[in-house]
Amino acid sequence: METYDLIILGGGLAGMCAAVEAGEEGASVLLLEKQDELGGSTVLSSGYMAFAGTDMQENAGITDTVESLMNDLIEVGGGVNNPELIKTYGQYQFETYRWLKDHGVEFRTLQAVSGHSVPRGHTIDPHQGIQALYKRVKELPNVTIRFNAPAKRLLKNSEDIIDRVLYETEGESVIVAATKGVLLSSGGFANSEELLQKFAPHLEGALRIGGEGNVGEGLKMAWEHGATILDRQYLSGTYGFHPSANSAVKSQGLAFYKGGIIVNQNGKRFIDESLSYKLLGNAALQQPEGITYQIWDQTVMDQAVHDDPLYDFQLLKRRRLLYQVDTLEELADCIDVPVEVLSETITTYNNGIQNGAEPEFGRKSLTHNYGTPTPIEKAPFYAFESTVAMLATYAGVAVNSKGQVLNAFNEPISGLYAAGEVTGGFHGAGYVTGSSLGKCAVFGRLAVRNALKKEIKV
Ligand SMILES: Cc1cc2nc3c(=O)[nH]c(=O)nc-3n(C[C@H](O)[C@H](O)[C@H](O)COP(=O)(O)OP(=O)(O)OC[C@H]3O[C@@H](n4cnc5c(N)ncnc54)[C@H](O)[C@@H]3O)c2cc1C
Repeated sequence: METYDLIILGGGLAGMCAAVEAGEEGASVLLLEKQDELGGSTVLSSGYMAFAGTDMQENAGITDTVESLMNDLIEVGGGVNNPELIKTYGQYQFETYRWLKDHGVEFRTLQAVSGHSVPRGHTIDPHQGIQALYKRVKELPNVTIRFNAPAKRLLKNSEDIIDRVLYETEGESVIVAATKGVLLSSGGFANSEELLQKFAPHLEGALRIGGEGNVGEGLKMAWEHGATILDRQYLSGTYGFHPSANSAVKSQGLAFYKGGIIVNQNGKRFIDESLSYKLLGNAALQQPEGITYQIWDQTVMDQAVHDDPLYDFQLLKRRRLLYQVDTLEELADCIDVPVEVLSETITTYNNGIQNGAEPEFGRKSLTHNYGTPTPIEKAPFYAFESTVAMLATYAGVAVNSKGQVLNAFNEPISGLYAAGEVTGGFHGAGYVTGSSLGKCAVFGRLAVRNALKKEIKV
């Protein structure tokens, strides 16, 4: 039987960071990837990564601290995230940012994004990031990647340690052994109707956008061996996609984080738009007919960011997904809401934010505690029909800060590690943008380090 130090299941960001880290430590590694290419949901993502105290922030004149990042993660997560994981993220996030840069991952821009008190969204091109890590893997003779090789089962030895993996290749079932551990990095289950219906029936109306191979096989394999599954109750979609969006053409715009508002088919706001777009998503799905529109004016339009996955409103216009008109009357007509109600909604909102806080939902900032909303008053006006998409499933196996998968008694399941979207416990009840890719990189590396019993110096 083929035997390696480590077997890694899945080649997204978590698996690739783990493979490079373990390979550079001299471990023999087999990474099994179900698809014929790397990347999973990672390469579909907007590429935001949440780090604090970086040179990019310093150059932009932004003061930030690890404590503030950790506080935001806990506050947005409703205080139900595992504090041990948050602390570990805080401890290793900056070292991980430098490690990624040292390994050729290019950071491009810095943006204010959901859930952060300061601009902390460091963008990468996720394709470039995965390719940079793949280039490094190809230089490491001790790391093998096998494509079209879905893992099917985890096998235990007589001492109750997971030490083998059953996978399929070219129609055959093959068993491989790992002496130091098996790492699950197989992503979430955004493409599993079975698991979504089981865990999150309230998301039935949401679009599905996620890695093609992400159907929760890793989760099920760990579940079979008694892994605890956390955060099912917090599964939520992401708001801000045009109803025509899909994995290939995502058409997302978050004008509300630059000062837009969101109204329903009755022309009424229904939430504080500065909240996490996960919470906005839950509320949007409950609106009449599930239809909502982002509304903004030229002041917001002027803040569009070219080539940014979340803020390139001009691209949405070029795709003919926006209504652009000169008066609110015409706007109401376009989206078929009562004109007097829409005018009243906007007048109340404008008056409120100009007086410090708007009375209906208490909006005070653009995103979580950051930025000052501006009145919607400068023509032309824009409307973008928006809905919710299930992108990433932040419910998954319980892990400790070493990446060991835990059973119902919080005891490690010997030999089994997990990192990335297959894990739960990190985000809690709400998601902070960039913290998923961030956690993949931080915990992917930490898990294999722990399996190899080597520390990372920070
Ligand atoms: C449209 C979109 C935008 C997003 N934007 C952001 C963002 O800006 N910032 C952020 O932090 N997060 C974002 N996310 C979430 C984030 O991209 C994911 O949570 C993260 O990339 C997951 O990485 P991963 O390595 O855990 O899994 P993935 O990248 O999904 O990789 C898992 C891999 O495992 C493989 N696999 C699955 N099952 C098996 C099996 N049985 N055997 C072998 N291989 C298997 C899959 O094929 C896949 O290649 C976004 C997600 C989407 C879909």
